[in-house]
Amino acid sequence: MAQFDKKIQKIGVYTSGGDAPGMNAAIRAVVRVGISQKLEVYGIHNGYVGMIENKIEPLQLRDMANIIQRGGTILKTGRSTEFMRPEGRARAAQNIKNLGLDALVCIGGDGSFRGAHALWEEHQIPVVGVPGTIDNDIFGSDKTIGFDTAVNTALEAIDRIRDTAASHDRLFIVEVMGRNSGFIASHVGLAGGAEEIFTPDANTTVEKAIDRINEAKSRGKTSSIIITAEGQKPGRAYDLADAIRKKSGMDAKVCILGHQQRGGSPTAADRILASRMGAAAVDALFKGYCDVMIGTEGERLIQVPLDLVYKNEKKNQLDLISLASVLAT
Ligand code: ATP
Repeated sequence: MAQFDKKIQKIGVYTSGGDAPGMNAAIRAVVRVGISQKLEVYGIHNGYVGMIENKIEPLQLRDMANIIQRGGTILKTGRSTEFMRPEGRARAAQNIKNLGLDALVCIGGDGSFRGAHALWEEHQIPVVGVPGTIDNDIFGSDKTIGFDTAVNTALEAIDRIRDTAASHDRLFIVEVMGRNSGFIASHVGLAGGAEEIFTPDANTTVEKAIDRINEAKSRGKTSSIIITAEGQKPGRAYDLADAIRKKSGMDAKVCILGHQQRGGSPTAADRILASRMGAAAVDALFKGYCDVMIGTEGERLIQVPLDLVYKNEKKNQLDLISLASVLAT
């Protein structure tokens, strides 16, 4: 685990990549724990975009008022192609050094952590990462900030769809977020009583889904819900509906939940996780640790080296999908 030996006095915090509910609670924890420990805390706007453009401002205790319950990120987020190049990172690092920031807290996903690792390797700027993404697909942490809220948001929608599906004896295909990751789909599928779940990593096929729905019909079930992760492109649910129609003649209604899963007030679980992780990130910097991400292992907070985080893939819990399938009989 990397360590640095400078006493920190000024730190910066930024959110980067996709926004996630609970990021504000994490920013609040960083700022309030930092200031309570006599640090000056600066907010970097729009992630690496703002770091390059020097959009960096001091944050005070009162700036954190009334944000714990708000989705999105008050610091805004961004994706920067310029930061992918060494010259872009050098500009960003120079701005950090000019302001006298001793260390940074990066709240984001694994792309953001690659950038954070580069800041440490190339410019010796200590960074601690906090995993903020609705997809939960970050190696080294059981849970990421925003995942619980996104699952609950999707679940609320599915419960509503279930009412109309049951009233009309319909088959619904509900597409949830997760382009390369099936965490939301598997959790929502189990919690929502889905008949079938399609994720990038599960081996569900159209034929199997049709067989299961027909079996369920023969047992007297009149409506079904299939959950699918968005896959390579949003709208995959329409392809699935087409394939089911062509192979079985069954008509499926499609509902794509889309970006509403990113927003909204964070759940208690996400606010607590974000508060604990934000506080732990500042604590790690105080102890001289950097180039690590704060993760969870069960209820415990852990530190995981950033390169381990982005070099490894977190495996989805496929047992949830098998269980959902047994329970939806
Ligand atoms: P999410 O999973 O929610 O999309 P993320 O952090 O993975 O979040 P990315 O768009 O992959 O989102 O990364 C955010 C930013 O991090 C990028 O726009 C880029 O500026 C920076 N970044 C990503 N990969 C690298 C890299 N290999 N080297 C330097 N910077 C990087």
